[in-house]
Amino acid sequence: MDSKVQAHTLAQGHELRIEVKPDKVLLLKLVQGEAEIFGTELALGEQLSLRGQKLAVFTWNGCTVELAAEDAQVDDVAESVYESDDTPMLSYLNVHESLEQRRRAAREAGTSGRTGPRTIVVGPTDVGKSSLCRILLNYAVRTGWAPTAVDLDIGQGSITVPGSIAATPVEGPIDVEEGMPIDLPLVFYYGHQTPTENPELYRAVVERMSSILDKRENVDVQAAGLIINTMGFIEGLGYELLLHAISALRADVVLVLGQERLFNQLKTHLRAQQRVSVVRLHSSGGVVSRTPPVRKQARMQRVKEYFYGVRGDLSPHSQTIRLDDLRIYRIGGGPRAPTSALPIGASSVADPIRVTPVSASLDLMHSMLAVSHAATPDQLLSVNVAGFVLITDVDIVQRTITYLAPCPGSLPGRYLIAGSFKVFLE
Ligand code: ADP
Repeated sequence: MDSKVQAHTLAQGHELRIEVKPDKVLLLKLVQGEAEIFGTELALGEQLSLRGQKLAVFTWNGCTVELAAEDAQVDDVAESVYESDDTPMLSYLNVHESLEQRRRAAREAGTSGRTGPRTIVVGPTDVGKSSLCRILLNYAVRTGWAPTAVDLDIGQGSITVPGSIAATPVEGPIDVEEGMPIDLPLVFYYGHQTPTENPELYRAVVERMSSILDKRENVDVQAAGLIINTMGFIEGLGYELLLHAISALRADVVLVLGQERLFNQLKTHLRAQQRVSVVRLHSSGGVVSRTPPVRKQARMQRVKEYFYGVRGDLSPHSQTIRLDDLRIYRIGGGPRAPTSALPIGASSVADPIRVTPVSASLDLMHSMLAVSHAATPDQLLSVNVAGFVLITDVDIVQRTITYLAPCPGSLPGRYLIAGSFKVFLE
């Protein structure tokens, strides 16, 4: 055997935890048995390229995997590789099985309005929320469903770029290299990196997304249900937004990862609502914590992937157009009401969900703008977005603006939404 190849044989119920160094590629191949990565089954003999990823190869029945690196030793590209038999996978499988029963019951009930399970995964940052969502989505797909993934985490964004919330049907196993399917996501742009910037807008986009998801009439789609990922922001406003998301999306299964206090808080709060079950789950010892700079870097990486592809195989288009040809709006920040309409002594505060035009200026440099499907500015809050552009240059003298778009041609909508999210791609 090639001396650069490392073989690992795993017993039943064990996992191999792998942390690939940032910007490095580790090659992984299943050579015997059965294995999965966050619920996605590996094909025997197929080589996967893991780019800077942290993950676990788990096996229910035992397997052998081979690790290798191109022109390097495994240790040169992997920060750590170790085996563990202490995983919460059995409890995750049990959760899947109870969701499965609910799905079947909803399908049998047909058009009676009974929906499948709406599962929301909550907990602090770095407890494995995204990984658990992925496992549950993949297990549902493996039993023949197409569940809907909903991502409310504006900080990282597993479906589309950060600063947005998104939903997408998951019809096949989630690709280990590429991540979530992005063919037809339903996306709303919030435009900021933290919910504290404009919590009312955050609530408004969550409510809007929920009402659109409710309109889907297909029995199987409704029976498959939702798997909702959330932000790790769980204190104060973060907790209020969690409660809001649970009620706006009518979640009825709340999976709490890793924090007993949050579990007790939610259990007490939701006690009166019989239909909601709150379940505490252990987080995996393999979950890797990320420092704020690492998170920031991951955010920028997501944006880069949006324009350049996960493998760097897409070529975005740079376009320069006249400033006056773009119609850019901002949500929030405008006056709430004329002072004359307010009671004496009251001061006017900015209306958090008012749509106001943005005049072109150097402030737009490096801004991520969402291209809306809206036909008029007053629809900007209620209509989803088609995609994103990144402003790379503003020339005030020539009155032109240059942007990067993922594909060539004219933009799919006339109206663009600006926020405070700035991106610096090196
Ligand atoms: P959260 O969504 O709560 O912030 P994630 O699910 O994103 O947490 O997990 C944090 C990091 O840990 C991710 O890079 C994820 O791929 C990694 N990870 C999760 N579970 C494991 C595991 N069992 N072994 C190795 N890495 C893992």
